[in-house]
Amino acid sequence: MSELMYPVNKVPEQGQTIELTDGVKWLRMPLFLKLDHINLYLIKDGDGWFVVDTGLKSSKVQKLWESIFETELEGLPIKGIIVTHLHPDHVGQAGWLSRRWQVGIYMTQAEFMGTIIYMDTPSSRTDEYPVFFRNAGVPEDELSQMHVGGLDRLVEPMPRRYTRLSDNDCLAIGGREWRVIVGYGHSPEHACLYCEELNVLISGDQVLPKITPNISINSAEPDANLLESYLESLEKLKALPEATFVLPAHNEPFTGLHKRLTDIQLHHEKKLDMIIAECKEPRLAVDLLGLLFGRELKGTEKMLGLGECLAHLNCLIHRGRLVRTLEEEQHWYKTI
Ligand SMILES: [Zn+2]
Repeated sequence: MSELMYPVNKVPEQGQTIELTDGVKWLRMPLFLKLDHINLYLIKDGDGWFVVDTGLKSSKVQKLWESIFETELEGLPIKGIIVTHLHPDHVGQAGWLSRRWQVGIYMTQAEFMGTIIYMDTPSSRTDEYPVFFRNAGVPEDELSQMHVGGLDRLVEPMPRRYTRLSDNDCLAIGGREWRVIVGYGHSPEHACLYCEELNVLISGDQVLPKITPNISINSAEPDANLLESYLESLEKLKALPEATFVLPAHNEPFTGLHKRLTDIQLHHEKKLDMIIAECKEPRLAVDLLGLLFGRELKGTEKMLGLGECLAHLNCLIHRGRLVRTLEEEQHWYKTI
């Protein structure tokens, strides 16, 4: 397997693009997190451009988009907006772009339907989350920190219509076929786009070269086996050629897809082995955070870390390696 290589030795300046291959441009938008950017892509389609992913809701991102429109599109319009998945950094400006250019949004069904969570009103919040985190072992005085409300601040209002993408659909863009490859685990029905003629995979968050995407159980589906679904989705991508040029949503475009897929699988298998060893005595999910992350997590980080920890615990239960018992509203996990 080839090692990872980063063939482009520069990154796009704000409001500018870099052409990666014939008719495919790379741009970045800022994120206001430890991870400070998202990669977005433009695919030329004759007399216009398709956008892949859109950036967070913010006036700064809209200003940067306007300068892209002015200087980077060869005077041509945006023709459509493809969104890999529903996370705010990907879908945040989809509604705005759709209205700005009077064009449609292309998403898988589960991702589009999932954007309903951004219509956040006090009445739409649920009572499931305290039970969920109490089960995981979070102390009562920390339960209120385990909830992020007001997600509408991160995403522009979405239109009520879209064009559905399904696994294996082929989009004809710029005279080439771009095949939709659906993956699971990081989000409900994540779409990657693969162009065989260019040997290019736009991978969204499904495969990233330097970080691993968050695989997180939440209170809406507490028994889901997201980690196994994710690992299977990685396996599916191994059918693509070794030399595929991967355009991820974070970090830099790279080659070495098979090595990266294997490394991410091994990363999770190693965490699963650590949990099996640790749960010889019964443990709560919160007891395992130090083991899995090597440091103390607080607030939102703790919430995401617990989601990821539970993804590993659920996977081991499904594999028949752990049992879970409920005692006084807490879930205890023990190796079989
Ligand atoms: Zn994501």
